[in-house]
Amino acid sequence: MISYIGIGSNQQDPIKQAQQAIDALKLLPNSELVKCSSLYCSAPMGPQDQPDYINAVAAIETQLTPIELLDALQAIEQTQGRMRKDNRWGPRTLDLDIILFDNQNINSERLVVPHYGMHEREFVLYPLLEIAPKLTLPNGTHLSQLIELCDKNGLIIISEKTHF
Ligand code: ATP
Ligand code: MG
Ligand code: MG
Repeated sequence: MISYIGIGSNQQDPIKQAQQAIDALKLLPNSELVKCSSLYCSAPMGPQDQPDYINAVAAIETQLTPIELLDALQAIEQTQGRMRKDNRWGPRTLDLDIILFDNQNINSERLVVPHYGMHEREFVLYPLLEIAPKLTLPNGTHLSQLIELCDKNGLIIISEKTHF
């Protein structure tokens, strides 16, 4: 199965955090990192009194189940010092979200896929477009249709080379 993973960081050297996360994705069991976008810089969502974010999207080919993948991603977040706080969308060393998993719709307590916020998040859609320009969502919507409705909101590429 192909899964797309959203990567975000705005604490403790975010570029390094993103690179380290990409390196960790390469080591996921029963999986292969097949593509990774450039690194992008985006304005924070929600609380504005926090640094800008570094974002990327990676594509992995995996034999893990969606929940096994979520567990593995949360373990990587923990390794990189993620503290879960009450304030939603506050600063974090690393956020790894499952954006898409194959063509599946998942609605369980721990996991909602496609990721509920992907439609309006420029820092997800534009990196995704870079690595999967012809992508179609499980409901048949083309990524290009979502892009048309999503302002870039100042999103810029800061590094085209993700060493992977
Ligand atoms: P947002 O979900 O709006 O991007 P966030 O990524 O900061 O916010 P987290 O604190 O990382 O939120 O995750 C909260 C919970 O979201 C996780 O414990 C996880 O169970 C759940 N979750 C639901 N769907 C997903 C998904 N597609 N990818 C990652 N986590 C998810
Ligand atoms: Mg998130
Ligand atoms: Mg998350």
